[in-house]
Amino acid sequence: MALPRVAVAALGGTICMAPDVQSDGVMPKLSAQQLLDAIPNLGAVAQLEAQTLRQLPSPSLSFDDLLEVLRWADEQVAQGAAGVVVTQGTDTLEESAFLLDLYWPHPQPLVLTGAMRAAEAVSADGPANLRAAVTVAADAGSRTRGVLVVMNDTIHAARWVQKTHALAVDAFTSPGAGPAGAMVEGTPHYFHAPGQRTTLAQPRDAGMRVALLESCLGDDGELLDLAVKAGYQGSVIAAFGVGHVSFAMAKRIGTLAPAYPVVIASRTGAGSTTERTYGFEGSEIDLRRRGAILAGWLGPRKARLLLWALLAAGSATEEIRKAFASFGRMRNL
Ligand code: GLU
Repeated sequence: MALPRVAVAALGGTICMAPDVQSDGVMPKLSAQQLLDAIPNLGAVAQLEAQTLRQLPSPSLSFDDLLEVLRWADEQVAQGAAGVVVTQGTDTLEESAFLLDLYWPHPQPLVLTGAMRAAEAVSADGPANLRAAVTVAADAGSRTRGVLVVMNDTIHAARWVQKTHALAVDAFTSPGAGPAGAMVEGTPHYFHAPGQRTTLAQPRDAGMRVALLESCLGDDGELLDLAVKAGYQGSVIAAFGVGHVSFAMAKRIGTLAPAYPVVIASRTGAGSTTERTYGFEGSEIDLRRRGAILAGWLGPRKARLLLWALLAAGSATEEIRKAFASFGRMRNL
């Protein structure tokens, strides 16, 4: 039987980085083909095709870069790929995964991976991560799961994955949900059947800007007004606890929402915002009354991407509210 076809695109990141004399540090250098060539016997897993789309550090990836990845991946599926793999830097990997997942309608898996250690480091993790990612992309059990992240022999759903350590090889976790599966003897094992997924219409205007502002002690909320003045079309507040802000920020939100979309997510890194527990000024009940939208289980970064995608699709406030109710609450997933 012919091996499944897996297309691999490289965007840059530590996985392709090697020492650079001019900068004194590691820099993106290796192509997608070079990454594949470093893995023994990968040709026994899948028929491979490699394309280097970018060689960027992931903090400088843009929405346009990711929309190009999406077009490339769509094309690979149209041409018969059983799955696609994208390598990129780990710094923004969780955001790329979530954004691509919002737009990925295919049953074929789109798998993201990267590395915490540069290509020439002793015990570089890139080759093992890429091998596992290709294996996951080629596996029929990965179908209809949307976008997956494979790092350190662990498979994560884009919906949940976060980079939760700056340096560790096991930097990626799925707080609140746990991983979707694990690699065992080179084979993906999934812990649950695929869930229901909703995808969005592709952006009409990719030039949207959504601000992400973190609440912190003594916050006067002025940055929110500055974001509006600077032309950001929506804002996400990484709020305290279950979705709380200061009195001052609550007042500013009250004068802006609902005419201007303000989404409240929890800055804690895990857990959901609540809807009907606290009643003080700046609490989730107060902010809802003032017209803010609560992000539920979506953390601030994912909430920002969802708001961006909704605004970019031309969604009105009521549609934005409905979309957050469905993406943000487990009971509606
Ligand atoms: N640790 C990051 C990486 O994995 C640094 C650079 C980047 O994100 O591109 O790739």
